[in-house]
Amino acid sequence: MTTTIGLEIHVQLATRTKMFCGCSTTFGDEPNTHVCPVCLGLPGALPTLNAEAVHLAITLAMALGCEVHEVSEFSRKNYFYPDLPKSYQITQFDRPIATVGSVPIVTERGARSIRLTRAHIEEDAGKSMHVADITLGGETLVDFNRCGMPLIEIVTEPDMQSGDEAYEFLRNLRRLVRWLGVSSGDMEKGAMRCDVNVSVSPDPALRGTKVEIKNLNSFRSVKRAIDYEEQRQAQCLGGGTSIVSETRHFDEVQGTTTVMRSKEASNDYRYFPEPDLPLLQLDSTELESLRAQMPELPWEMQSRFERDLGLSPYDAALLTEERSTAEFFQQTIALYNNPKKAASYMGTEVARLLNERGKTLSETQLTPAALAGLLTMVENNTISNTASKDVLPLLVDTGVTPAEAVKNLGLEQVSDASAIKDYACEVIAENATQVEQFKSGKEAVLGFLVGQLMKKSKGKANPKLAGEVLRTLLKS
Ligand SMILES: [Zn+2]
Repeated sequence: MTTTIGLEIHVQLATRTKMFCGCSTTFGDEPNTHVCPVCLGLPGALPTLNAEAVHLAITLAMALGCEVHEVSEFSRKNYFYPDLPKSYQITQFDRPIATVGSVPIVTERGARSIRLTRAHIEEDAGKSMHVADITLGGETLVDFNRCGMPLIEIVTEPDMQSGDEAYEFLRNLRRLVRWLGVSSGDMEKGAMRCDVNVSVSPDPALRGTKVEIKNLNSFRSVKRAIDYEEQRQAQCLGGGTSIVSETRHFDEVQGTTTVMRSKEASNDYRYFPEPDLPLLQLDSTELESLRAQMPELPWEMQSRFERDLGLSPYDAALLTEERSTAEFFQQTIALYNNPKKAASYMGTEVARLLNERGKTLSETQLTPAALAGLLTMVENNTISNTASKDVLPLLVDTGVTPAEAVKNLGLEQVSDASAIKDYACEVIAENATQVEQFKSGKEAVLGFLVGQLMKKSKGKANPKLAGEVLRTLLKS
């Protein structure tokens, strides 16, 4: 059996106001407090295009390698639903703002590129809330705060073949939208939603009948829904039942899909050009300047870290998950020229501390200069690697410099040969038996003597230097 998967992803653009009116996009406020005649669809109210939403949509489309069209058009998608007061949604139909493009993914099957069909701008609908409370009569209520929120819809080609690939695609897309500041990518708050098309066919050369699963709101749900649907369709086909083209709902608790409705053909929506908005015309110089401002993309930076800095795939992925972390790392290695050590320290000691504190890097007092300073002190043997683990929490919590922290904790390693010589003389005087053993050729005893010296210095002596000084004294 061959499985074919395509995705449709709605990404909410991070603007301050809605797509066609000045209402706030703040999430979680009292229902129906961010509404006006435009987003409520009152007669005579006219839409005004939000330029910031267009700007964010173009930025994302460019990063996805799309062809951004200088002229695109808004259309009305007509349907009746209680959460859609105008009885039509303003979207883009046959002339979207962007077409083609791709997203790279890496799964167990290796590195692949998932092609995109198109990306278009549209407005969101309101939100129906089904109230189970009997005192409210088990009614359905509608919150129009979400109505008119700016979205970009991204449609992929049917290029994925497993739930894992879809999961990886979404993970990488979310990393990109957050990286660019185009969207929070927060699926729990509905800022990223996904519809899935799955078809299974016994013949790899033929595409099976497409089944759509609507409104999945976590990456895990997407993967679970695909895994279930793959199995269900294969079972149907195996038992001689044909697959019906339909829209299904994923039940989070049962882990199964159930029929929602049979599939509407796209002409049911009676699309026609939106008469209240002009054609969307983009300025070619403005497009060029947006292209010039495009930052290095997360997957580009990830491969560069592996290729040019020699980082492990794990460290490179970890450091490019968030743009702020990647920038922190780059500033650190500008001051401390050992990328592999810096990456591994950030991935272990720093990551563990952030985890303990439940904070992100930018929520702490740690600066790239402080981390570079700390790593340099370890490198120069000013402090031991073990001691650095006591210093780090101070840098993270209080923002003192590494030198201040080392001084406060009394951790400075003694690398002064004359101070070490004093300790060594004491150790030799107090351990006559071991000294005799060493002189008669039992070299291993040196380890014991170094240990005694370390104890005397309260662990602060540079162990390598201590060994050298003792050896010289004993041989003289
Ligand atoms: Zn409004």
